Amino acid sequence: MIVSSTGLTKSFPQLGGPPVEILHSIDVSVRDGEFVAIVGPSGSGKSTLLHCLSGLERPTEGRVEIAGIDTARASASALAKLRRATVGFVFQSYNLVQSLTARQNVALQVRLAKMPAARASEALTAVGLAHRENAYPAYLSGGEQQRVAIARAIAVEPRVLFADEPTGALDSVTGDAVLAILRDAVARRACAVILVTHDLEAAARADRVLVLRDGSLYRELIAPTPAQILEAVEAPLPAAHGAPGVAAAAGAATAGPDRGAVRP
Ligand code: ADP
Ligand code: MG
Repeated sequence: MIVSSTGLTKSFPQLGGPPVEILHSIDVSVRDGEFVAIVGPSGSGKSTLLHCLSGLERPTEGRVEIAGIDTARASASALAKLRRATVGFVFQSYNLVQSLTARQNVALQVRLAKMPAARASEALTAVGLAHRENAYPAYLSGGEQQRVAIARAIAVEPRVLFADEPTGALDSVTGDAVLAILRDAVARRACAVILVTHDLEAAARADRVLVLRDGSLYRELIAPTPAQILEAVEAPLPAAHGAPGVAAAAGAATAGPDRGAVRP
């Protein structure tokens, strides 16, 4: 198991009030090499879940383990080491350093992980950008910048890659190409992927799809079709009783307005 959570609960402090619980006791486990998608209406807690599972944030209650390390108990240096080499991140906003070229962006990560320098060019070749390695991010298209970000993430050969809406800022054709590169890059490395996405077609290519509703794990679908995912995302939540697999459907009445957030 590369990533697992038990009873993962996350609350945020609220100005002039009690903390708000955003994630309610979530149990998730992801195997090495597995491709898992997380879908759900906007505001359902997908990003918060990804941040907790990846060690970027600590859970308020419960446990998260990455590669056998308990993120709540690990020292700051153990967590930093995990982030440098075991875990990779790809965000919607690319997060490239603007003053560095594509190769330098990737090389920086490779150097931090104390990996051989040649990894940077190899990773850019793997995402089809060898010819653009001396370009600065401002001169690259959105799709190209995201491919650099993927190269940066895979260059250190992580065991798990976390991606939060990696195609969210791209048109659908470019987004599909970026997803194909992501899948291909990790498939050849036996790296697990945990992908948060609004794109049901993309989610349907995962081994497993976790449907998040109002901060609870509402359903887990094995190799579903896009239609099955849509149905799970949009099914009305019972107002009074927990839905299947949901401990508390608090805020279920707010599920309606979020429907439009997921593209069919
Ligand atoms: P999603 O990614 O599914 O759209 P998020 O995880 O970003 O959802 O957010 C879930 C809920 O948690 C939202 O209501 C959001 O406003 C709230 N939230 C997220 N981060 C914070 C924070 N740092 N402080 C307070 N509330 C937050
Ligand atoms: Mg989000």
